[in-house]
Amino acid sequence: MERTLVLIKPDAFRKHYTGDIIKRYESEGFHILAMKMLKMTKELAAKHYAEHIGRSYYEDLEGFMTSGPIIAMVLEGEDAIGAVRRINGKTNPKEAAEGTIRRQFAESGSRNAVHASDSPENAAREIAIFFNATEIFD
Ligand code: ADP
Ligand code: MG
Repeated sequence: MERTLVLIKPDAFRKHYTGDIIKRYESEGFHILAMKMLKMTKELAAKHYAEHIGRSYYEDLEGFMTSGPIIAMVLEGEDAIGAVRRINGKTNPKEAAEGTIRRQFAESGSRNAVHASDSPENAAREIAIFFNATEIFD
């Protein structure tokens, strides 16, 4: 069993896709171990997206991710890290496969509905940014 951190980004929240996205993960068999709605501050964005600081798009990414509510979740399941990224689809919805969350719900390569951890190291790091032990049900 593996755990991964998922964020529902402000674009999807604004368009009322939150329920559909959560339902998709549940129907794929993942267990929700933790979940909260919050505002991503600039400080939180800098922690979560540390490896992107300094890139050409960072300011845009920071502005977008702090522009409205996000939902953070810890999902658990078999091969959760790889499986959730496959269900999410490629970063740019135009390149994301039919049936993926980004293809269905994302508006662009930057406003792309969801985030999911990309490695066990990043999953552990990202989960710890958003949740403390008393907020995770295992
Ligand atoms: P992913 O979210 O698929 O892991 P990346 O790690 O490459 O993608 O990028 C993190 C996030 O930064 C993307 O999901 C997207 O919101 C944003 N982003 C990435 N590249 C760009 C870009 N060239 N312009 C604007 N935003 C970008
Ligand atoms: Mg990434």
